[in-house]
Amino acid sequence: KVKSEGRRGFRFFESEMDEEVRSRRAFEADLMAALSRGELELHYQPIVAASTREPVSFEALVRWNHPGAGLLSPDRFIPIAEDTGLIVPIGRWILRKACSDAMSWPAHIKVAVNISPVQFRTGDIVDVVASALRETGLEPGRLELEITESVLLQKYDWDFSLLHRLRDLGVAVVLDDFGTGYSSLGYLKEFRFSKIKIDRSFVAEVSGAGDSGAIVCAVAGLARTMGIDTTAEGIETEEQLQLLRVAGCTQMQGYLFAKPRPVGALDFKTTGIRRRHRATA
Ligand code: C2E
Ligand code: MG
Ligand code: MG
Ligand code: MG
Repeated sequence: KVKSEGRRGFRFFESEMDEEVRSRRAFEADLMAALSRGELELHYQPIVAASTREPVSFEALVRWNHPGAGLLSPDRFIPIAEDTGLIVPIGRWILRKACSDAMSWPAHIKVAVNISPVQFRTGDIVDVVASALRETGLEPGRLELEITESVLLQKYDWDFSLLHRLRDLGVAVVLDDFGTGYSSLGYLKEFRFSKIKIDRSFVAEVSGAGDSGAIVCAVAGLARTMGIDTTAEGIETEEQLQLLRVAGCTQMQGYLFAKPRPVGALDFKTTGIRRRHRATA
């Protein structure tokens, strides 16, 4: 009796697994087709100068306009794109589209593009960036590549020469999500990044009782000594803006200024003061 129940239970478990595998396969197939069907879109969020609140750059943040599920955030499909290698063609498309969009923006505004660790491993990233610049005509100085700290922590041997070769193209190489990995400060010695983006988790805690405020001050101070910018991510309140400005961050990004928006809806002048309430709606 017990045995047969056990077997039923096992079969049930097995078919549940099948179901999971099937839906995962279907999702991967959808994602593979998404690019050719034109379902991926880039939204852009401004990065503003801390002193003036004027945009200096817009970060491209990919969304998938899924036919059944609506607008999916990158957390829902980038990890799968990375597992399957689809991030390589997708990432190439993102770079080219972002560079081409930026060509119609005011010339002092830069564009920031997130680069996946997998693109470093398999994607011939230097050639991909060089051809995006060449094909769109974007001036290299207007492109910022955001590399998350976890890129530098992969199991494979990290090759810092790739970062040097990217910088030799004339683009900015930015360390994203600073503070989420380990031995972060060590990387600053290995490679001179153009800018450090302090992760939103620090920003959220900066007014609390913990050490986040002191850490942010130390990092911003160090960056200033090295002559590089610091962006504070995820600024949602005037209080956070004030604290991070005092801490020495030179650029700010967050819902206080604007949420990511489609390329047609960008405002290159807005300082975030007038738009604040609408932006968080
Ligand atoms: P990230 O590069 O650190 O981007 C910042 C994320 O924080 C974005 O989420 C942005 O919408 C969100 N954010 C900005 N300001 C605020 C704020 O004030 N409050 C809160 N709560 N969130 C804020 P998103 O667009 O969902 O992107 C998540 C992550 O997905 C990105 O983190 C990045 O790692 C990855 N990603 C996005 N686009 C791309 C892409 O084109 N390629 C690759 N490889 N990764 C991408
Ligand atoms: Mg980023
Ligand atoms: Mg970030
Ligand atoms: Mg982050």
